Amino acid sequence: MPDTLHPWICVTCAAEFTPSASPPASCPICEDPRQYVGANGQQWTHEAELSKDRKTIWHEEEPGLLGIGVEPGVAINQRALLIEHPEGGVLFDGFPLLDEAGVAEINRRGGVRGIVASHPHLYGTIVTNSIKLGNVPIYLPEADRQWLMYPHENVQFFSGDFLDLGHGVTLHVTGGHFDGSALVHWPEGAGGKGALLTGDTIFTGNDKNWVSFMWSTPNRVNLGPRAINKIIAMTEKLDYDRLHDGWWGSGVMEGAKAKVAASANRILNIQQNG
Ligand SMILES: [Zn+2]
Ligand SMILES: [Zn+2]
Repeated sequence: MPDTLHPWICVTCAAEFTPSASPPASCPICEDPRQYVGANGQQWTHEAELSKDRKTIWHEEEPGLLGIGVEPGVAINQRALLIEHPEGGVLFDGFPLLDEAGVAEINRRGGVRGIVASHPHLYGTIVTNSIKLGNVPIYLPEADRQWLMYPHENVQFFSGDFLDLGHGVTLHVTGGHFDGSALVHWPEGAGGKGALLTGDTIFTGNDKNWVSFMWSTPNRVNLGPRAINKIIAMTEKLDYDRLHDGWWGSGVMEGAKAKVAASANRILNIQQNG
């Protein structure tokens, strides 16, 4: 591949696009009404540019769960989560810069057996990350195929709402924010009480005892009863005490299952009677 071809990264949503010599005409993810084009219009960057003053960072969220992101933050400053395993962990979500030190750290912790994602806003450079980690398979829901801006042979699309990722880790496609919005259940999380990894499929409030279910967080559009009830029905079956969303320092640290149910009741009550 000539040096002039590289994936372009959208500055606002951090999604990468199929390698090309010049930037794409637009970013369909940002032009979608759930996101937004930045105030200065569509802007692009790429790995070499980001590498000048940024690096991959990681921080243990709890034993066995590594948060991985970029500093200084890019776009919505998302961070991914690695459920570690000696035979290869599960990497949930993308982030827009995986440098050599980041690859070394992930491999030191057992590497990655599979990459999944909460939804397209957190894909980041998911394909480039997969290539750097040894062409690790990426499993994405068929329902969101149109939102992958860098189609690649490492990506395997699946149908249905469930994926067994091995060693007890499972992916559940709840829909809501996107048709393919998903979360991961990690039974060994929270000291064996179980944890949910949600991106913004379930989104923590500033008060970390409450969550929300948004169609668009940046544009403040809530989901309705059908979508909220579906998320609750699917998560009710899972044992969990903690919830990690897609950002540093965010999540519900204990009693999460009851707090998610109380949050849904609060929202549905306001929607009905408000
Ligand atoms: Zn974008
Ligand atoms: Zn989103």
